[in-house]
Amino acid sequence: MTDCIFCKIVNKEIPAHVIYEDQHILAFLDIYPRALGHTMIIPKVHAVTIVDLPEEEIEPIFKAVRKIDDHITTTLKADGLTIGINQGKVSGQEVSHLHIHLMPRFNGDGGGAIQSVVNKPSSEDVAQVAVRLRLNN
Ligand code: AMP
Ligand code: ZN
Repeated sequence: MTDCIFCKIVNKEIPAHVIYEDQHILAFLDIYPRALGHTMIIPKVHAVTIVDLPEEEIEPIFKAVRKIDDHITTTLKADGLTIGINQGKVSGQEVSHLHIHLMPRFNGDGGGAIQSVVNKPSSEDVAQVAVRLRLNN
């Protein structure tokens, strides 16, 4: 996509601190890191969300997450890793090209769990919600 900043990084039209690349994905450091080694993994094809991502790209991107998780955790001696996707403006998605954040975590870094981004549960009973959301395969 021509006006997509991450497509431009894929096409080498703008620079990035790339740490890994294969046929399907690119991994590069976030330009405004929130932790040492804050990395983003993106598919080379333009997709706004994981739902838009072609089926054949799902496995390669998650294999890359596993590979880079292991690599940066070991290399940086991180104590843990937060892995996340902001999907939609409300959740904080600023760049409309799917990206998976890998945020190395260190004991005492002051950060929280992914669940801490929102705390507005519904009054609806969890069992009822489960009925509403049950999906057959
Ligand atoms: P999100 O809020 O999930 O859309 O995150 C977008 C992320 O992309 C932010 O953390 C930005 O710091 C990062 N970002 C934006 N432009 C660039 C760029 N040119 N190179 C690397 N990271 C970028
Ligand atoms: Zn794009």
